[in-house]
Amino acid sequence: MKTLNNLKDYQNVINGNVIPSASGEKMDCYDPATGKVWATIPSSNVEDVEATVTAARTAFPSWAALTATERANYLRRIGDSIAQYGDELAEIETKDNGWVIREMKYGIIPEITKMWYDAAAAAIKVGSKGQTEQIGPNTLGFTLREPVGVVVGIIPWNSTLWTFTVKAAAALAGGNTVIIKPSELASVASLRYGEIIQNILPPGVLNVISGTGAEVGDALVRHPGVNKVSLTGSGRTAKAIAQSTADNPKPMVFELGGKSPNIVFEDADLAKAANGVTVNGIFTGNAGQLCCGGSRILIQRSVFDKMIELMKEEIATHIQFGDTLDSQTSFGPVANEMQFKKICSYIESGQQEGGQVIVGGRYGGPNLLPGQEKFAEGYWIEPTLLKVNSNNLQVCQEEIFGPVAVVIPFDTEEEALAIANDTTFGLGAGVWTSDLNRAHRMIRSIESGNVWVNTYRIVGTELPFGGQKSSGFGTDSVLEFTREKTCYIHID
Ligand code: NAD
Repeated sequence: MKTLNNLKDYQNVINGNVIPSASGEKMDCYDPATGKVWATIPSSNVEDVEATVTAARTAFPSWAALTATERANYLRRIGDSIAQYGDELAEIETKDNGWVIREMKYGIIPEITKMWYDAAAAAIKVGSKGQTEQIGPNTLGFTLREPVGVVVGIIPWNSTLWTFTVKAAAALAGGNTVIIKPSELASVASLRYGEIIQNILPPGVLNVISGTGAEVGDALVRHPGVNKVSLTGSGRTAKAIAQSTADNPKPMVFELGGKSPNIVFEDADLAKAANGVTVNGIFTGNAGQLCCGGSRILIQRSVFDKMIELMKEEIATHIQFGDTLDSQTSFGPVANEMQFKKICSYIESGQQEGGQVIVGGRYGGPNLLPGQEKFAEGYWIEPTLLKVNSNNLQVCQEEIFGPVAVVIPFDTEEEALAIANDTTFGLGAGVWTSDLNRAHRMIRSIESGNVWVNTYRIVGTELPFGGQKSSGFGTDSVLEFTREKTCYIHID
């Protein structure tokens, strides 16, 4: 598809300057609702990477030397600024990856604002706190908590403002300087956000550079001037980064994919569970493109048919397709053409494997928004439930990352637990029950970084959010972006 005239060009943010790539090369950005180009971003290369790392390294000593209170004051000012720019940022992310404006404005923007204030508090509470121990009669031991240095945050195309904030706020609070590398498939919100933030911070403290993962991402993670990498993305990219840094290892946070079970027991409040496993559990979070989306719905057989009816009602009542910029719309397209094709092929292969479509299953603008020419080439997929009888199918084991969930019946608690843990992933899990003992048994036994009971998907950045198994390790927290140095002093 050709670039249209009069597109807004967004730029890199390097050393306090808002600038194009060194080569002047650009990439097109597509609005997934329409499938049309709506903006351009810099296609950066290793020359831009050098300039960015130099900027972050140069800015580091002064930023690290600030007191935690001084850093916290900057972070609070960033939080304050979102009141002014929140609507603009929400609209940009909606055009960038299709996340409907209603969820952006009333969900994500307030959440990221709070994250800056929380990070400011954490800077003071934990950012510089070490330990003290008397080691024998003549030795005092203590630790200094120090910043790590230059932190690179590599982010995916889903949930860009949220992921940018969770990494940047924690790393800056810890006294580090930061480089954000957004996905080449959705960079605009990050570039504009960086531009707004750099007006508040000293030059070089926060930088944003767009480009491909293979060129810019790889050059950043290999760079000797980079001290820590935090990736939110796929297992495939985590493996590539681990391999390319094998000769020069550096600490990593890996926030990767999931195939999260959302389990409904017969003693649950079924009406609440029906919403919690469909609308809230997977479908309204960026059209199911959320790492912790409950993409495997497990239902006890005694309430299976009743639950299916309730789930259908919830979806029919709450899912409203339409213009992503209209605040009535609750469900948007998937984020890009590549993801659209991947999800559609899982809907087809899931049926070939024996799955039965019990809700949805259709895709394409003309099918879902008939007569609305504007959306004919958009990446629209209906919320889809596939009933399956075994967890062994490919659609049950591989991350689809879209509005598609499998529904699996089970008989006993033991069976539910076995199915829940029968996955290489371990990011999230939901348990719907009125039995407190059962809830606690499940919390202890599920192999997952996060467990929700009688709710789903709520995340408080006051607490860690991380994965187990192939869902990754580490968390984006202030402590994670600092390190302790141990000191001993002899006293005569
Ligand atoms: P991706 O791995 O393809 O890309 C993520 C980022 O890595 C992009 O910025 C990309 O340019 C960069 N990258 C690619 N190759 C690289 C390389 N060799 N070196 C350095 N950087 C490189 O992921 P995606 O398709 O953008 O995002 C979807 C994935 O992200 C899903 O698996 C999803 O589950 C996961 N995700 C996880 C979380 C979480 O918190 N656990 C949150 C959101 C998304």
